[in-house]
Amino acid sequence: MIQTVGVVGAGVMGSDVALDLACYGYEVVLKDISEDAVRRAKEKIRTDFRLLKMVKPRAKQLTMEDVIDRITFTTSYEDFERVQFVIENVTEDWEQKKTVYTELAEVCGMQTYYAVNTSCISITKVAALMPRPDNVIGMHFMNPVPMKELVEVIRGEHTSDETVACGEQFLKSFDKVPVVVNDFPGFVTNRVLMLTINECVWAVQDRVAEPQDVDKIFRLGFGHKMGPLATCDLIGLDTILNSLLVLYDSYKDPKFRPCPLLVKMVDAGYLGKKSGKGFFEYSF
Ligand code: NAD
Repeated sequence: MIQTVGVVGAGVMGSDVALDLACYGYEVVLKDISEDAVRRAKEKIRTDFRLLKMVKPRAKQLTMEDVIDRITFTTSYEDFERVQFVIENVTEDWEQKKTVYTELAEVCGMQTYYAVNTSCISITKVAALMPRPDNVIGMHFMNPVPMKELVEVIRGEHTSDETVACGEQFLKSFDKVPVVVNDFPGFVTNRVLMLTINECVWAVQDRVAEPQDVDKIFRLGFGHKMGPLATCDLIGLDTILNSLLVLYDSYKDPKFRPCPLLVKMVDAGYLGKKSGKGFFEYSF
């Protein structure tokens, strides 16, 4: 039975995964690379929990201490010996993910399961780094994690049926709805979503429409809750760019080439909600 979960990477996704798990009574070890990143994660969890209390009945019954006390914030792997499940959420960059899995393989037990939270990186390629590749699975969480039921579960080439069953059961224990797909670049969600967002950025670059009008078309015309450019801001323009580069490289198909405006905005530090400015502006 899973009681303690190791969460690696405490950015947009990792901190919300930790918060969600803590709300369901799991003990969480949340690791990032610097004290500063860990401090920011703690702040984000506090802010997100306050918002969550307003909308999610389960959170309403909990206090801030209930949640924070279940999370060990750390910059080391010291406590990873005792975790049964790892959810990795580090930056969408192959070299960074590779380093993390090489380190995890040294500290975790052979029975540990690993969930790769990624937008586009191959689960099969990550699994091939590990002594037990059959214990590695993809879990593509949706943002914001505590508010989204869907998790796209990715079966890599080596992933065993037992790991898929264990992963599905684990996700259901915190009210997620897993949909299992096979490992292919971008899976289903991002193969389609990244292309849509990128094409909307081209439309803005070509002066077809302003960002607010692009999004209005999708909200009012197609009934989307959120427009593609607001979604881009929420995910992070850097993450979108990295995902497009992975898709471009994987399929060698020019349809995935990132729009120059997206590259320019990332170069300028306009990363979306997390930096306060992307296609729209945000006050903290
Ligand atoms: P982010 O940039 O907000 O956070 C990444 C974190 O990983 C940073 O805090 C960074 O310091 C940390 N990190 C880097 N190397 C590390 C290491 N060696 N050990 C521990 N921590 C390390 O990124 P994010 O948006 O949270 O994305 C994380 C993953 O989730 C990516 O693979 C991304 O594609 C995927 N994802 C993101 C979204 C989204 O909406 N942002 C949605 C689904 C999946």
